[in-house]
Amino acid sequence: MTTRVDLFADVPGQERAVAELVAAAAAPVHAYLFLGPAGTNKDTAAIAFAAMILCEHGGCGTCATCQRVLTTGHPDLVVVEPVGVAYKVEELRTIGQVALRRPLEAPKTVIIVREAQAVGLHYAAFLKTLEEPPGSTVFILVADDLPRSLQTITSRCVVVRFRALSPDVVAGWLVDRGSEPRAAAAIAEAAAGNLRRASLLVDDPGFLARYERWVSIPTRLDADGATASRLADEVLAGMEEAVAALKRDHERQVAALEAQAAAMGERRVQGLSNLRDDHKREIRRYETVELTAGLGALARCYRDEMVVAAGADDGGRLRRATEAVTMISAFTSTWHRNPRPKLALERLFLDLGALGSAR
Ligand SMILES: [Zn+2]
Repeated sequence: MTTRVDLFADVPGQERAVAELVAAAAAPVHAYLFLGPAGTNKDTAAIAFAAMILCEHGGCGTCATCQRVLTTGHPDLVVVEPVGVAYKVEELRTIGQVALRRPLEAPKTVIIVREAQAVGLHYAAFLKTLEEPPGSTVFILVADDLPRSLQTITSRCVVVRFRALSPDVVAGWLVDRGSEPRAAAAIAEAAAGNLRRASLLVDDPGFLARYERWVSIPTRLDADGATASRLADEVLAGMEEAVAALKRDHERQVAALEAQAAAMGERRVQGLSNLRDDHKREIRRYETVELTAGLGALARCYRDEMVVAAGADDGGRLRRATEAVTMISAFTSTWHRNPRPKLALERLFLDLGALGSAR
């Protein structure tokens, strides 16, 4: 039993989904849909489930079959993902052909379809594949979300739901992987339940420094515009730094795609511009999450101050801290609509400084 838990070591906080999979692995049905928020390691869970299905010991995690499933690949495990933003009809046709194939070594063929929502327009073709596989084929579809137009797909699958992760779960996972508890707590909060983001932050040596910078802001503020401007510069420079780790990861993905194209003898790298578009979107999302996390850390300083002021029965201090929290939360919900984030940040810091100097 313990080895099974090990297979899911990187799928924290999903006890219910894991229990469903453990119960299902001995006699799997023809299609599963893993559905839940981004960054909950559903892809990792899909590989673990495949190991349980293909391994003759039910997913020991150590035999040659498990090792191949978990690392280099197994002939009866096929993992597909769209080359661009959506699956092309030929890609879906290939999946259909694989689904009809007899397994080569194991009793089953497992097909993992990543980003199943990207089946998009060609879902009718895909549905046919999904409905008529031989008994030896098991589909595992993975998606963050399926639009209503793809509901028919949902109805053909056993849906395994992955839940959003709390900061505590993410922090516990990071500590299990060797992070120091205080750093793990700060990273977990900034990662907002996303394990991919949490892992990037672990590899980001500047993260704690950026976090400390946000937390130090209340003590450094004054009613001077120059101070507000300097702090805004610092915070924005930190955001650039944060994105650098993500950009390095993107370059690795581009290099892998280019290497793959070269290996296939293709002169043009298919899907490269789509991948770059995905990367731009991910960077924008990341910047939003980074700034929101920083503002969250800042707001928490003032919340702590509220608790202290209330305990000391200091009405003026309590009122100012409360006002600061209100200002920060108003800013957090509107800044992304602001075309000039630096000016907006300066304004916020100046207003917060003015509050403090009225102490
Ligand atoms: Zn095994």
